Amino acid sequence: SLPTIFVITPTYARLVQKAELTRMSQTFLHVPRLHWILVEDSPHKTPLVTDLLMKSGLTYTHLHMPTAKDRKLQEGDPNWLKPRGVEQRNEGLRWLREDRRAQPGGDNQQGVVYFADDDNTYSLQLFEEMRSTQRVSVWPVGLVGGMKYERPVVEGGKVVRFHTGWRPSRPFPIDMAGFAVSLKLVLANPEACFDGEAPVGLLESSFLQGLVTMDELEPKADNCTKVLVWHTRTEKPKMKREEALQAQGLGSDPAVEF
Ligand code: UDP
Ligand code: MN
Repeated sequence: SLPTIFVITPTYARLVQKAELTRMSQTFLHVPRLHWILVEDSPHKTPLVTDLLMKSGLTYTHLHMPTAKDRKLQEGDPNWLKPRGVEQRNEGLRWLREDRRAQPGGDNQQGVVYFADDDNTYSLQLFEEMRSTQRVSVWPVGLVGGMKYERPVVEGGKVVRFHTGWRPSRPFPIDMAGFAVSLKLVLANPEACFDGEAPVGLLESSFLQGLVTMDELEPKADNCTKVLVWHTRTEKPKMKREEALQAQGLGSDPAVEF
């Protein structure tokens, strides 16, 4: 049977959260055998996310894990200062390992794990590319790192280097959206996780380093010549009018979810 794709997504409350999760969930509805592990960066599960998942029509697991206060980006911090979504991805991994152990049967190790941020743009083709992952598969990511795209460069069917604008000597100069790992490999390496203390740009490497070598990477998307995922970022909406109206007691109804 078709291997299940376990998608781990960190998410946090903000003005655009419901819009992002709506877009994402409706993309996933088009993907067969997808299990969405959505991890809220919050001390509790919120009604907004609970309700959205319930009505989504997807197979999902709803988790939460707040980012430690000293790890959280403060208002005004440059966004490269601290990696985002770390504890949430690790919580997703923890749940997955636990859940697979509890599932009896021979095919409980069959599957693929993908880390999908809630603001990126995903082509349906991407999921069919990653479904055949044996260990770690890789592909280009569009609109990332100050480039049109970053990608692994493939020669003779193997990844030989990376096309990136920044520190190409990093062990794995790959964005979070640019790789998937087989469930088998995740389960065989129970300690593998993301290191929130890793220096800037080395978060992905902190996870991949113990799992795979460059030589073993499986290039997808036509030998990494096709862009099937984009590191899009959503503009923070301005609330100037909202605040002005609020000051007059005419703000939007807080009972309306948006
Ligand atoms: N995120 C989170 N808590 C935060 C900030 C971000 O859980 O305080 C999540 C966010 O929803 C996304 C992922 O972490 O799924 C990466 O964050 P973001 O897209 O802001 O990072 P960037 O695109 O700037 O690398
Ligand atoms: Mn993002």
